[in-house]
Amino acid sequence: VYLTDTYLTELVTKVLATTSAGELVVESCIFHPQGGGQPADRGWVDAVEVTPVKDHDSGRVILRPVDASADSSGQSWAQQVTTRVDRPLRLRHAALHTAGHLIEAAGRSLGWELTGNNHFPGQARIEFTAGAATSPTMPEERERAAEQLRAYAAAAIDAAPAVEASTDHDGHRIVAIGDLHAAPCGGTHVHSLADLADVDLEVKVKKGRIRVSYTAKHRPAE
Ligand SMILES: [Zn+2]
Repeated sequence: VYLTDTYLTELVTKVLATTSAGELVVESCIFHPQGGGQPADRGWVDAVEVTPVKDHDSGRVILRPVDASADSSGQSWAQQVTTRVDRPLRLRHAALHTAGHLIEAAGRSLGWELTGNNHFPGQARIEFTAGAATSPTMPEERERAAEQLRAYAAAAIDAAPAVEASTDHDGHRIVAIGDLHAAPCGGTHVHSLADLADVDLEVKVKKGRIRVSYTAKHRPAE
């Protein structure tokens, strides 16, 4: 369910499976597991705090109690549970992650190619490579590039395009920001670039890679 609605942070659902370690799988999952450079949500199943972990064999999201001694043995198959995601953290991750797509688009507008990304709070960055003609090797070139990226981001946020997911003919989930950018992605995103606030960035070059470190927040709820 986290793929269809970033803002759905509380849901009553049913337990599909349990393990002896107290882990659970639920029918409708609102928890985003770590992946694609984006950190995992944190949340609760009833009163038990859990971390979602993706099981790569089954594709299921497993909810693992944070406290390994937590007793979830009272939960059994088909039981109804209330699941809840830490909403401020969810919105912070979604804003940082969506801003990452925006910065990728901004970098591509300068002729750069994406090589890596990290959307963790406090260390968010997008990395690019560029040909000699467009790589900002001198300090003043880096500052000029940072100004161009900031201007691109500010104009895009002003234009407020929707951020929408669709499925392509190969079954991949494609996330598009208006007509600025589209990429295969399994993360959580804000509804529109107008939901982003306090986007700022700096540009460094390390071992031939351009590193754009950035910050972003979700616009305060109205
Ligand atoms: Zn994404």
